Amino acid sequence: MNAYITRVLESVKAKNPDEPEFQQAVEEVLTSLEPVIAKHPEYEQAAILERMVEPERLVEFRVVWTDDEGKTQVNRGYRIQFNGAIGPFKGGLRFSDKVNLSVLKFLGFEQTFKNSLTTLPMGGAKGGSDFDPHGKSDAEIMRFCQAFMTELYRHIGPNLDVPAGDLGVGGREIGYMFGQYRRIRGNFENGVLTGKDLKFGGSLLRPEATGFGTLYYIEEVFRHLGESVQGKTFVLSGYGNVTWGAITKIVELGGIPVTISGHNGYVYDPDGITTKEKIDYLLEMRASKNANVKMYAEKFGCEFHEGEKPWCVKADVCIPAATQNEVVLADAEKIVANGTKYYFEAANMPTTAEAQAYLVANGLIVGPAKAVNAGGVAVSGLEMSQNSMRYGWTAAEVDARLHSIMAAIVSSSIDAAERYGLGFDLIRGANIAGFEKVAEAMLKQGLF
Ligand code: GLU
Repeated sequence: MNAYITRVLESVKAKNPDEPEFQQAVEEVLTSLEPVIAKHPEYEQAAILERMVEPERLVEFRVVWTDDEGKTQVNRGYRIQFNGAIGPFKGGLRFSDKVNLSVLKFLGFEQTFKNSLTTLPMGGAKGGSDFDPHGKSDAEIMRFCQAFMTELYRHIGPNLDVPAGDLGVGGREIGYMFGQYRRIRGNFENGVLTGKDLKFGGSLLRPEATGFGTLYYIEEVFRHLGESVQGKTFVLSGYGNVTWGAITKIVELGGIPVTISGHNGYVYDPDGITTKEKIDYLLEMRASKNANVKMYAEKFGCEFHEGEKPWCVKADVCIPAATQNEVVLADAEKIVANGTKYYFEAANMPTTAEAQAYLVANGLIVGPAKAVNAGGVAVSGLEMSQNSMRYGWTAAEVDARLHSIMAAIVSSSIDAAERYGLGFDLIRGANIAGFEKVAEAMLKQGLF
């Protein structure tokens, strides 16, 4: 290992000792950069890596709100503005009881490279709260979002930092936060948030974007390999927005999705989740009060495997689309034993480091999250463009742009890996391609 990279990695571990997710994300990126650092001594000279692993700014704040019983509740809010070298900070907000500094720093660090890959001018950020939205009433969600924005508003703006949704934050939460921002600012600055409702500046296709983008990425990789989606079986996890969007597009392209999963188990539908009725039911199920994938199994008479993950099901392609670390070494072993050839990460960091190494060592083609799932933030970037123009593109126009962005991500990843003699390597290629643009921008802007 290159001495400079080793030194930066050691210092990240020493300075962020209780942050395993952040350490893992940094390690994956930095080890990919070995040939780049060897070729560009100017990066060490300018301490580019040391700067990249340190957020430009990190705010932590108190969020105080009242629940339906009239009791005062206190949560912790965060916004991490990781790197603003190529555009306004951009990235989602996550509301979950699992949110902590390590998770948000890993997500903000990843976002910097992901956003760079999209070809659009967006820096990297992430934020959120340890607020758990499960079981909260609509009025409680509104009061929490208003309280959260009452602090966050002073740190964001259309040219400064543009949050969006992530786990636990969808169109409803973005609406409440935008309303509060507008009330405080007294201005209609809708470029401050993305993932908005269409009626106040949202983009067509934003809900579908991550799932559709995943399939455009896969199609493009397959084109390079002389393969196609047609007739292939897909094992997916999750049942939210991303899984739904991916399933919709898989079916359109002639593939057969056979699983979905939730916190309590997975559903195996051997006939495929292929009819309009089944795909529409995914949305209905998600919107229901006690959403649970078992409902799908009951409605369509197929197997529900309580407490298990779908990775033991044989398929041509696996798409983890739920959350981080959902594929551990034992799952990777099942995937390899099943003869699966392709693995594309639609969730952020769904694979542990050892599981990912095992998949790669066994010859699977692995598409990394920061490239595969970049379609979501890419359409957020297109939403920002439309807000600046005060004009909205048609769904076909947004779709065509998303398509060409995903194709560009695949080709820049393949090209970067080849330029550095790494062969066909989508993981290291994406890290290098994402890094190059940000590093060059930082060098040109002087010390910051
Ligand atoms: N949270 C999404 C992501 O991980 C979207 C971020 C955005 O649209 O800004 O990329």
